[in-house]
Amino acid sequence: LDDKDPLVIIGTGLAGYHLAKEFRKLDQRTPLVLISGDDGTFYSKPLLSASLAHGKTPQQLATASAEAMAKELRAEILVHTHVTDVDRQAQVLTLVSDSGGIRAELRYSRLVFATGAHCAPLPAIEGDGLARLFRVNSLGDYHRFRTALTNRKRVLLIGAGLIGCEFANDLVQAGYQVEVVDLQPWPLANMLPEAAGRDIQQALAQAGVTFHLGTSVARIEHTSAGIRAQLASGDIIEADIALAALGLQPNTSLAEAAGVATNRGIVTDRQLRTSDTGIYALGDCAEVDGHSLYYVAPLTQCARALAQTLAGTPTSVQYGCMPVAVKTTLRPTVVCPPQPGNEGEWQVTATADGVKAEFLNGTGKLLGFALTGSAIAERDALSQRCAPRMP
Ligand code: FAD
Repeated sequence: LDDKDPLVIIGTGLAGYHLAKEFRKLDQRTPLVLISGDDGTFYSKPLLSASLAHGKTPQQLATASAEAMAKELRAEILVHTHVTDVDRQAQVLTLVSDSGGIRAELRYSRLVFATGAHCAPLPAIEGDGLARLFRVNSLGDYHRFRTALTNRKRVLLIGAGLIGCEFANDLVQAGYQVEVVDLQPWPLANMLPEAAGRDIQQALAQAGVTFHLGTSVARIEHTSAGIRAQLASGDIIEADIALAALGLQPNTSLAEAAGVATNRGIVTDRQLRTSDTGIYALGDCAEVDGHSLYYVAPLTQCARALAQTLAGTPTSVQYGCMPVAVKTTLRPTVVCPPQPGNEGEWQVTATADGVKAEFLNGTGKLLGFALTGSAIAERDALSQRCAPRMP
C-alpha cells in the first residue's frame, strides 16, 4: 500500500460528504478524492420533498458547489465522472467522464462506497404516457420535475409511502390538485398502524388530496390535455403530469461486479468494512450488520465511526433508537418503525389531536413507535424508552 495514493470516496451525497467532513476533522494530510456521477453539489436530499410549496429553486437548495466543497475538504472532487470498474488486486478504479466518455484510471489506498440508491423499478404500467411520469431522487430530478410542473395543475402521485406522502403534502400546499394511488390500504402502511396512517390521510384529504388506496395504476395514456391513468379498480384519473414515489434500491452493482459481497445492500460489519478489508461502505448503498436504513441519522452515525477507523482508530457504529420526522406539515408525524421480523403488537391511543402508537413485544418492551399531531410531543420520552436498533 502506497500512502501517497488517496483515500477515495465514490459518491458525493450526504454519506460521501459527511464522511469526508468527519475524516478531515481527524486527518488533514491524507490525500482525498471524491468521485461523483452528478455535479457534486452539496445539498440536503430530504428537502426535495418539502420545497415546492416554498417556491424553492434547485439553486436555492444547493448549499455548496463541488468547487467550494473541494476547497473546504482539501480534496480533489471529480464530477460528472462514473466509476465503471474496481480492480481490487491492483487497487485501481476505471473512470469514465460524461464529457466525451474519456476513460482514466485512478489508484486508491483505501476505498469507500457511498453510491446511494436509485428509484425502484416501476411496476408494469401500459400505455404511451410514461414520458410524463417523473421520479425525484436528486437535485437534477427536482429541477426536471419542477420545470415540467410549470403551468400545470393536476398531479397523479403513485405511492403513498413516506416520500409519496411528503410530496402530496408539498404539492397540495403549492396549489396543485393531487390524486394519490397506492396498493396498500392506508398511507405509510409499511411503517404505521392503520389509525396513524388514516390520521395522516384525513389531514391530507382535508387539504384537498384525493386518495385511491388498495389499487394500482394499470395504464397511462398520453392525451392532448396531459395524461389519462386507468387504475386496476377501473377508476380513471385525468392529470397533467405524474410522479412516482415507490421506494429506493441500493446501488450495489459496481461493488458486486468487483466481487465485494452484497445482499440487499453492500454488506458491511459494524466497522463499515466490506468483504474486502480495504473497502468500506456507508449510506443508502450499505447494509450495516444486516440493517438497511435509508435515512440521514444512520449515515451520520456511520460517517463519524468510519472517519475514526480511517484515521487509525477502529470504531464500530452503534445505532440507537432513530426516530424519523415525516415532513407532512399538515399533520406532523414521527416514526420509529420496529425492525422487520420483530414480534409484537401495536397499541394505539387516538384522540382528535393525534395518534400515539407503541409497538410492544410480549413482555411490554417498546420496540418502535409512531406519533401524529400533538402526540409528537412525546417523541423524546418514547425515544428514551425504545429499544436501540443495534443492541
Ligand atoms: P445519494 O444521495 O444517493 O448519493 C449517491 C452518490 O453516489 C451520488 O453523488 C451519485 O452520483 C454517486 N454515485 C453512485 N454510483 C456512482 C458511480 N458508479 N460512480 C460515481 N458516482 C456514483 N431521510 C431522512 O432521514 N429524513 C427525511 O426526511 C428524508 N426525506 C427524503 C426525501 C426524499 C425525496 C428522498 C429521495 C430521500 C429522503 N431521505 C430522508 C433519505 C435520505 O435523503 C438518504 O438516506 C440520503 O440522502 C442518502 O445519501 P447517500 O449519500 O447515501 O446517497
